[in-house]
Amino acid sequence: MSAVLVINSGSSSLKYQLLEMEGETVLANGLIERIGEQAGSVKHSVSAEGDEETFRNEEPVADHSAAFRVMIDAFEQHGPSLAENPPVVVGHRVVHGGKRFFEPTVVTDLVKINIEDLSDLAPLHNPANLDGITAAQKAFPDVPHVAVFDTAFHSTLAPSAYTYAIDAELAEKNRVRRYGFHGTSHKFVSEAAAAFLQRPLGELKTIVLHLGNGASACAVDGGRSKDTSMGLTPLEGLVMGTRSGDLDPAVLIHLHRKAGLGFDELDTLLNRRSGLVGLSGRGDMRDVVEAAESGDDAAALALEVYLHRLKHYVGSYIAVLGGVDAIVFTAGVGENSVAVRGRALAGLERLGIRIDPERNASPERGPRVISTDDSAVAVLVIPTNEELEIARQSLSVI
Ligand code: AMP
Repeated sequence: MSAVLVINSGSSSLKYQLLEMEGETVLANGLIERIGEQAGSVKHSVSAEGDEETFRNEEPVADHSAAFRVMIDAFEQHGPSLAENPPVVVGHRVVHGGKRFFEPTVVTDLVKINIEDLSDLAPLHNPANLDGITAAQKAFPDVPHVAVFDTAFHSTLAPSAYTYAIDAELAEKNRVRRYGFHGTSHKFVSEAAAAFLQRPLGELKTIVLHLGNGASACAVDGGRSKDTSMGLTPLEGLVMGTRSGDLDPAVLIHLHRKAGLGFDELDTLLNRRSGLVGLSGRGDMRDVVEAAESGDDAAALALEVYLHRLKHYVGSYIAVLGGVDAIVFTAGVGENSVAVRGRALAGLERLGIRIDPERNASPERGPRVISTDDSAVAVLVIPTNEELEIARQSLSVI
């Protein structure tokens, strides 16, 4: 039996999952939060025969090394035994691979230096990912560690899609171009869509709408990313929980000159105080839809702006792909929000897109069709599974 441990390390959190790869089943998963704060929280869930038992604990967790000790303790106390299911590889999510990393990569000292070097492009993510890798190497010194990059799937973008129309030399020197993110999810979901539709991946034109707290769209042509809505950083594109998405860059210059906002304030404004939160005071789509339905004008506008932007990308990706076979919703909002799915694609019948309201409202959880039988374009909901994709890719390189 081959087990894979998947690690997603944030600045103050550690998410993990242990998978058994013959049947691709989850053995256990957990989340350690508030690392470095006075009171940390630990959640460890053990899966067996379709059931999941969850154990919670509150304890201080000083740093990422301590988090790994807490994780190993949780396995010892609650199972499954790591001695009986030793991971053959540890797979790590790394957000920014820049132009260097297009493939899952076995971690060496040089790879770590390169991940560190890319930190200026992802200051919130890459250093935290690296802390997780270093701590994991100490905890599991005898197995290979593999980095799987969020940007990698978008390495197939053509220069026309990834180049910003600014001074070419300045851009090159400072690595300014579009990279795209959520690649692990876009890859998993576009491949799952082809399998679900029983169509060859190489023939399929798909638009994947990954709508979570962060959100991005991806135009996938024959299994390859052709365009995606996030750019140099995960700020560009769709309206998100707290991020603005697309904006006239002159807005920044104007706010700097007129309102005296400095760069750190602008950074906070666009990344943390914009999007649904900025427009309505609510960052969770459930709350926004509920407030909009009970007559809150700000929430209603936030939802309209979100949907308008989404439709704008769907239309533009149909053009980029030269037609579309399948549109796929995934992640927290995409998998759960009947209202967002229905309204985002309403009025597109002339483009061959017809949603079936009953199918859309079905409480089913797995991969499913929500378009009508006579819709030329298949509209699907496919739950994303980034951990499984990281596990598959990690196993593939050792
Ligand atoms: P993710 O980043 O994929 O975990 O998605 C998290 C987001 O999904 C939350 O912030 C919510 O906005 C959204 N979400 C989760 N459940 C629902 C739901 N039932 N209806 C609408 N949005 C939801």
